[in-house]
Amino acid sequence: MPKKGIHPQYHENVEVNCICDNTFTVSSTEKGPIKVESCPACHPAYNQGLVVKQVSKGRMEKYAERMKKIDAVKKGGKK
Ligand SMILES: [Zn+2]
Repeated sequence: MPKKGIHPQYHENVEVNCICDNTFTVSSTEKGPIKVESCPACHPAYNQGLVVKQVSKGRMEKYAERMKKIDAVKKGGKK
Protein backbone atom coordinates (compact mmCIF):
# COMPACT_ATOMS: atom_id res chain seq x y z
CA MET A 1 0.00 0.00 0.00
CA PRO A 2 1.53 3.35 -1.06
CA LYS A 3 1.96 6.07 1.53
CA LYS A 4 -1.07 8.32 1.63
CA GLY A 5 -0.99 11.97 0.67
CA ILE A 6 2.22 11.97 -1.39
CA HIS A 7 1.21 10.12 -4.57
CA PRO A 8 -0.83 11.64 -7.39
CA GLN A 9 -3.97 9.73 -8.31
CA TYR A 10 -3.38 7.10 -10.95
CA HIS A 11 -5.92 6.89 -13.74
CA GLU A 12 -6.43 3.83 -15.89
CA ASN A 13 -7.76 4.24 -19.44
CA VAL A 14 -6.99 7.91 -19.99
CA GLU A 15 -8.02 8.94 -23.47
CA VAL A 16 -5.29 10.39 -25.69
CA ASN A 17 -6.30 12.41 -28.73
CA CYS A 18 -3.78 13.06 -31.48
CA ILE A 19 -4.10 15.83 -34.04
CA CYS A 20 -4.21 13.11 -36.72
CA ASP A 21 -7.59 11.99 -35.30
CA ASN A 22 -6.11 8.86 -33.78
CA THR A 23 -7.38 8.03 -30.30
CA PHE A 24 -6.00 5.55 -27.83
CA THR A 25 -5.93 5.00 -24.09
CA VAL A 26 -3.05 4.98 -21.62
CA SER A 27 -2.63 4.82 -17.88
CA SER A 28 -1.53 8.14 -16.45
CA THR A 29 -1.60 10.41 -13.44
CA GLU A 30 -3.03 12.99 -15.81
CA LYS A 31 -6.82 13.07 -15.79
CA GLY A 32 -7.16 13.51 -19.55
CA PRO A 33 -8.22 13.60 -22.22
CA ILE A 34 -4.62 14.25 -23.24
CA LYS A 35 -3.91 16.02 -26.52
CA VAL A 36 -0.73 15.13 -28.39
CA GLU A 37 0.82 16.28 -31.67
CA SER A 38 2.19 12.91 -32.79
CA CYS A 39 1.44 9.29 -32.05
CA PRO A 40 2.55 5.87 -33.32
CA ALA A 41 -0.03 6.13 -36.12
CA CYS A 42 1.30 9.33 -37.66
CA HIS A 43 4.91 9.74 -36.46
CA PRO A 44 7.41 9.21 -39.31
CA ALA A 45 9.60 6.91 -37.22
CA TYR A 46 6.78 4.40 -37.09
CA ASN A 47 5.45 4.59 -40.63
CA GLN A 48 8.20 5.90 -42.93
CA GLY A 49 11.79 6.38 -41.85
CA LEU A 50 12.61 3.09 -40.20
CA VAL A 51 10.86 0.81 -42.66
CA VAL A 52 13.44 -1.10 -44.67
CA LYS A 53 12.85 -1.08 -48.41
CA GLN A 54 11.99 -4.42 -49.90
CA VAL A 55 14.54 -5.40 -52.53
CA SER A 56 12.89 -7.30 -55.36
CA LYS A 57 16.01 -8.27 -57.29
CA GLY A 58 19.47 -9.27 -56.16
CA ARG A 59 22.63 -7.44 -57.21
CA MET A 60 23.80 -10.30 -59.43
CA GLU A 61 20.46 -10.44 -61.22
CA LYS A 62 20.66 -6.72 -61.93
CA TYR A 63 24.27 -7.09 -63.11
CA ALA A 64 23.35 -9.95 -65.46
CA GLU A 65 20.53 -7.88 -66.95
CA ARG A 66 22.85 -4.93 -67.48
CA MET A 67 25.47 -7.13 -69.17
CA LYS A 68 22.80 -8.58 -71.48
CA LYS A 69 21.81 -5.06 -72.53
CA ILE A 70 25.45 -4.12 -73.14
CA ASP A 71 25.96 -7.29 -75.22
CA ALA A 72 22.85 -6.47 -77.25
CA VAL A 73 24.14 -2.96 -77.94
CA LYS A 74 27.60 -4.28 -78.93
CA LYS A 75 26.09 -6.83 -81.32
CA GLY A 76 23.80 -4.22 -82.78
CA GLY A 77 26.71 -1.80 -83.24
CA LYS A 78 28.88 -4.22 -85.31
CA LYS A 79 26.36 -5.17 -87.96
ZN1 LIG B 1 -1.16 10.88 -34.61
